Amino acid sequence: MPFDFSGKRALVTGAGRGIGRDLAKALAAAGASVYALSATKANLDSLKEEIPSIQVIHVDLNDWKATRSAAETVGHIDFLVNNAAYSPEWCPFVDTPRENIQGVLDVNVMAAINLSQVFGKKMIEKGTGGAIVNVSSINGVRVMPGCVGYNLSKAAIDMLTKQTALELGPYNIRTNSVNPTVVMTDMGREHWGEPEKSQGILAQIPMGRFAEVREVVETIMFLLSDHASMVNGVVLPIEGGQLCN
Ligand code: NDP
Repeated sequence: MPFDFSGKRALVTGAGRGIGRDLAKALAAAGASVYALSATKANLDSLKEEIPSIQVIHVDLNDWKATRSAAETVGHIDFLVNNAAYSPEWCPFVDTPRENIQGVLDVNVMAAINLSQVFGKKMIEKGTGGAIVNVSSINGVRVMPGCVGYNLSKAAIDMLTKQTALELGPYNIRTNSVNPTVVMTDMGREHWGEPEKSQGILAQIPMGRFAEVREVVETIMFLLSDHASMVNGVVLPIEGGQLCN
């Protein structure tokens, strides 16, 4: 599907690596002015070197105030993609430390709330609508053992999607979630890289493979675009039918 985002301004979090990086590049290739936000400067430097038109924002999303200050410098945007997240080492529920859960919720949920507030307000004030995509996970709808914080964070992101769909929808600002199964980025490799770990989950997926980064990026582009102009509040699995299992 061809996308023309000329004249649009987009901000992508977690754009230093993985899905966020490829999304930032795809948005720029489609003509958007792109702000790429991430925590590790070296990753942003290499993105800037690759695509000089992309503006980079170096901030740790754990830091609510610093994130808000950085967002305030950006001005108006049309598209916000809350993609950044991390998934700590897995741990049985009964042994999971409070800090492990709180840390995940701070980055994966609170940062998305923070940015959705800042840019939601700007979008309302400008009055020209907008689109937000929250990158959730199949873990938001199907529980997996050993990652209570991550699972909670993705279920919360899906509810945040519905919250802003409801409250910002009247201003023609749409919010949707994408919920991929495993994607072989750094995060995917860390948890599912070993065949003995990946086989079980692959067996649940009727299509017999994991999702490609491209497949997630293109779904996000669709949801941002006017092709999806009546799609609001959707939690959209990208999982090859895994949830049918
Ligand atoms: P990666 O680990 O490859 O990349 C994560 C990105 O998020 C990095 O750029 C990282 O920054 C950034 N990030 C993490 N913590 C922070 C922070 N505190 N402040 C700023 N930036 C931060 O992950 P993926 O590309 O695989 O994941 C992207 C999204 O897709 C996430 O929301 C993830 O939960 C979701 N997802 C991934 C799946 C998978 O199997 N890979 C499956 C389902 C959903 P830095 O470059 O600085 O490290």
